[in-house]
Amino acid sequence: MKLAERISQVTPSITLAIAAKAKAMKGEGIDVCSFSAGEPDFDTPAHIKDAAAKALAEGKTKYGPASGEPPLREAIARKLKNDNGLNYKAENVIVTNGGKHSLFNLMLALIEPGDEVIIPAPYWLSYPEMVTLAGGTSVIVTTTAESGYKITPEQLKQAITPKTKLFILNSPSNPTGMVYSPEEIQALAEIIVAADILVVSDEIYEKILYDGAKHVSIGSLGEEIFQRTIISNGFAKGYSMTGWRIGYLAGPVDLIKATITIQSHSTSNICTFAQYGAIAALESSQDCVQEMLQAFTKRRQVMLERLNAIPGLSCPKPDGAFYLFPDIRQTGLKSLDFSNALLEEHQVAVIPGIAFGADDNIRLSYATDMATIEKGMERLEKFVKTRL
Ligand SMILES: *Cc1c(COP(=O)(O)O)cnc(C)c1O
Repeated sequence: MKLAERISQVTPSITLAIAAKAKAMKGEGIDVCSFSAGEPDFDTPAHIKDAAAKALAEGKTKYGPASGEPPLREAIARKLKNDNGLNYKAENVIVTNGGKHSLFNLMLALIEPGDEVIIPAPYWLSYPEMVTLAGGTSVIVTTTAESGYKITPEQLKQAITPKTKLFILNSPSNPTGMVYSPEEIQALAEIIVAADILVVSDEIYEKILYDGAKHVSIGSLGEEIFQRTIISNGFAKGYSMTGWRIGYLAGPVDLIKATITIQSHSTSNICTFAQYGAIAALESSQDCVQEMLQAFTKRRQVMLERLNAIPGLSCPKPDGAFYLFPDIRQTGLKSLDFSNALLEEHQVAVIPGIAFGADDNIRLSYATDMATIEKGMERLEKFVKTRL
């Protein structure tokens, strides 16, 4: 069949291939330690599920506005004001089928052939693919462990051309877990304003922070940067609601209106009763977030210590999200070979860094129980020894 040209330009997910292999091995009864999960391992908190169940029982089962249920848009606008210091109203917000859908809507509304989008690597694997699907060009800027895998203001400045439309900022980061400091965010904001480009800030991990790290939303740093900022966020990671598919985008009204038009012809509204669960997530006690964070904090400590004790691996300490992104260069292996051999020989599943534009790294998620972490780190150590 002759398929559309655009599909030949995107790559099927490498991460899914490894995850599928790990799953198949588990299915055969093999004891696999999996660190490939990109989602919290907790159930969605009960009060959130209850609120959605109540809405379902009350008949919130019909089409709703493509932009989202009005009380949820209001609740998100309040959240953005209170948590992030962003002066948005409900009309600045669209509710989407997850953070991924937020970004996809944004690319369709904003990017056209000829437009350049600056993406620091390591990056979340969907960013460049979305830019491509929208017909734009990704400009990948490689960062290093020395800069904490963060783009420097100089790097951003050098990457900007007259064609630059958008810069994608993701802090805390997937896959590195790194968090930009308030000063670093400020320095990037100055470049963005001076060059008069737009920034989308993917803040999906904003609540998953350690050791006193602070999340600063770039749009809160002044009116000029606020006008050039789009916020992408969602409920998946902070509230363990990955399967619910609820996210949101916030930004200038004309842009949000454009995304509502796109959504009205593609997905229509987000599952109506699920949105009432999201309202409960925002408006109820945030203790559930703290409880998950406590578990992540312990696991991160153990995994990082074990990992850095393995000769041949090195991993900077990340301040956010639930990933570690060690450098594997000393093993002489590239990330795909490393990940495949580790899975085949020692039954440990990790994601090869090449999926995130970094072939000298692997990504380990610690959104799993402590026993798996202990066992997996032992196996990883044995594997690395065989390659040194
Ligand atoms: C998980 C994730 C998202 C979005 O997830 P959804 O499930 O679509 O809400 C967005 N950005 C990053 C960096 C992520 O890791």
